[in-house]
Amino acid sequence: MKRSASQSHLVPHLLRRLLRRRETIAYPYGPMELQETYQGRVVVDIDACIGCGQCVRVCPAGGLEVERLPDRGVRVRLDHTRCANCGLCEVSCRRDAIRLVAAFVDPATNKDELVDEWVRQGDHDRKQREKA
Ligand code: SF4
Ligand code: SF4
Repeated sequence: MKRSASQSHLVPHLLRRLLRRRETIAYPYGPMELQETYQGRVVVDIDACIGCGQCVRVCPAGGLEVERLPDRGVRVRLDHTRCANCGLCEVSCRRDAIRLVAAFVDPATNKDELVDEWVRQGDHDRKQREKA
């Protein structure tokens, strides 16, 4: 019996696929492997942040709050329930203090647990703590 053109293409293709390394992952039965370029979570380097608020202004989801504390302290708050991982905050920050990393936001049953906060105390408070 003569094989059709589609069959002669399909059989080698299937064989190649069967011999190739698996492309899916066993998650949740194995570890989740994220690609380096995956952008799943916003993180803040609070020591680099100057509290300029530019990230807040560009965030289309209203997910960020920045508060300047006395003596050059700063507090940054991120609500993951709002964040759309668009990356605008990262590209707008001139200090490279905020970026998206290859990680997931951990699941939670309480909305309050889906908020991250980074705080850098002002120089005065820091000196006081160092003295103590
Ligand atoms: S994270 Fe960057 S853009 Fe946002 S307040 Fe800090 S320095 Fe400014
Ligand atoms: S990634 Fe986008 S939505 Fe999320 S905090 Fe940054 S600007 Fe806002």
